Amino acid sequence: MSTPKILILGAGYGGVSTAVGLQNKLNHNEADITLVSKHDYHYLTTWLHEPAAGTMPAHRAKIYLDEIIDQKKVNVVKGTVQLINSADQTVALEDGSVLSYDYLIVGLGSDPETFGIEGLKENAFSIRSINSVYKIKEHIDYMFASFKNDPDRLDYLTFVIGGAGFTGIEFLGELVNRVPELCREFDVDPSLVQIYSIEAAPSALPGFDTDLVEYAMNMLESKGIQFKINTPIKQCTADGVILATGEEIKSKTVVWTGGVRGSSVVEKSGFEVMRGRVKVDEYMRAPGHDNVFIIGDCALIFNDEGRPYPPTAQISIQEAENVVRNLKAFIRGEKLTLVPFVPALQGTLASLGKGEGMGIVMNKKKMFGLSAAIMKKGGDARYLMKIGGLGLVLKKIRL
Ligand code: FAD
Ligand code: NAD
Repeated sequence: MSTPKILILGAGYGGVSTAVGLQNKLNHNEADITLVSKHDYHYLTTWLHEPAAGTMPAHRAKIYLDEIIDQKKVNVVKGTVQLINSADQTVALEDGSVLSYDYLIVGLGSDPETFGIEGLKENAFSIRSINSVYKIKEHIDYMFASFKNDPDRLDYLTFVIGGAGFTGIEFLGELVNRVPELCREFDVDPSLVQIYSIEAAPSALPGFDTDLVEYAMNMLESKGIQFKINTPIKQCTADGVILATGEEIKSKTVVWTGGVRGSSVVEKSGFEVMRGRVKVDEYMRAPGHDNVFIIGDCALIFNDEGRPYPPTAQISIQEAENVVRNLKAFIRGEKLTLVPFVPALQGTLASLGKGEGMGIVMNKKKMFGLSAAIMKKGGDARYLMKIGGLGLVLKKIRL
């Protein structure tokens, strides 16, 4: 029998956890494993709000694949996936090459969800990759420099963050910490800087524990963030945003953190999707495709009450572990009834700037302040330990 070909798309939380899991669990030559990703590095999407604001160098959120992948066991291909052709079990890359598979794992992450809001795609930034956050950080610095050369232009010092979900709140926590540093560097009066958080729902972090939401909002407000809650953004222009109330906020920096949808590649490839995500079966397989596993932000899974789980790194990693376990059994021909995926949620923790955070652990204990921030770093350290050992933890984690 020929060696089965396993193709993993995307070196994010899901893809890397699958590749590292398979390299650890399978023997040499048991499978021909290939990992394809846009870059030759894995990036920690969960850290990107920090380099976006300029409170962490972007290179710290990057891990070169040759540091964590044993290339004797896993071939790494740097390439951009264009289309999955599940009928003939191939994947086309943008450079024209075609890769074939017996088993496919799709971990291509997400795209920003703009809900068709006019002008957002063209005029707003979004926090989605290392390259996107380089651009945001450089732009923010440039706005301060531009103001110094044109001091009537207060729109240069006005920052609009659209959507107060977890990404928006975490970015606000970093941005508000960076502003004093920028004001000092560019000799700008801090009272001229305006940061708006615009949220469509009746609360920031909709659906999250109210004590924790209040804590986060009070903390951010005390540092100068202006919240506009229950106020959807209706349009984004080159000059700012127009809200559903008709109010216009003039700003040269709009960062859209209003939600995500699954990678457009999945929909383009003909899989049935809801907001770009495939409603997978209990083994993370696309309906009708027993050899195609969809994980991470491209997958849609539901809890017992029929509500979708929010796409998170935590769930992506667990899904990958489940796929690794089932694939190993397939490949070894072990008589295993497949093990269904059941998320084991550890809680939700959000950072609110250096040394500040809040959240719930073990699904009931609320945490605030420094202890929450340390707990969050502990979770990051566990992940880094799993993919790269202690060396990687020591290289990346700063308290
Ligand atoms: P990703 O980790 O996004 O990886 C996708 C990979 O696919 C990337 O390497 C990308 O380059 C590659 N790729 C994409 N398109 C292509 C293509 N066409 N061809 C080739 N390669 C491609 N979740 C938590 O659980 N805890 C947190 O604290 C947390 N914090 C977050 C903070 C921020 C600022 C953000 C934006 C998200 C956060 N999340 C958090 C959510 C979490 O980051 C995502 O749910 C998680 O990254 C999804 O993992 P993934 O493997 O599906 O995709
Ligand atoms: P999200 O969908 O969680 O939040 C988007 C927010 O934007 C919502 O509050 C929504 O009401 C708001 N919004 C939508 N349309 C709007 C409009 N027109 N005007 C103003 N506001 C609007 O998206 P996210 O924050 O990007 O998070 C994406 C996923 O990543 C989520 O599953 C989240 O749980 C996860 N995440 C987790 C963490 C963490 O655990 N610390 C951090 C970041 C992201």
